[in-house]
Amino acid sequence: MSGLLQHLVTRKAWGARPPRSTSRLAPAAVRYLVVHYSAMDADEQVSHVNCPGRVRGIQNYHMDSHGWADVAYNWVVCKHGYIFRGRGWRVRSAATGPANGFSVAVCFLGDDTRGRDDATAAGREAIRSVHRFVGAHAPNLEGVRGHRDFMATSCPGDELYRFARSLK
Ligand SMILES: [Zn+2]
Ligand SMILES: [Zn+2]
Repeated sequence: MSGLLQHLVTRKAWGARPPRSTSRLAPAAVRYLVVHYSAMDADEQVSHVNCPGRVRGIQNYHMDSHGWADVAYNWVVCKHGYIFRGRGWRVRSAATGPANGFSVAVCFLGDDTRGRDDATAAGREAIRSVHRFVGAHAPNLEGVRGHRDFMATSCPGDELYRFARSLK
């Protein structure tokens, strides 16, 4: 299933905890890929060696503070261009509230500060790669959206939002 995902970091490789449970989402139900950000400056590490620990931190927060079954996102991408498998494909996300029944979610590991190019070219390419993967597997995909299209939030920041909406 991961053939189209370049630079995939498996759950084992990032040290993921096992999910408490798994809710399936059929590929035909997926109408949107939704882009998020973690909104944490500290998630933008200079060295990629530190990225798995940041993803583990998000998973711990989602499981221990929110009580969710797993990290909320289907994938997490970092500014170095790596794609961390979160819940993965065919699994319902917990990231986008009312849209969870018809979307999958990718989260950028970092903030979106005006004029700073947080996501970097490599991070944007990783998001494009996730989009290509979803496009190849979801027969009813309508497009890419931002978290803010479905809920009252600034996520994923103005620049990342414009990028998300530009993806065809
Ligand atoms: Zn979000
Ligand atoms: Zn990284």
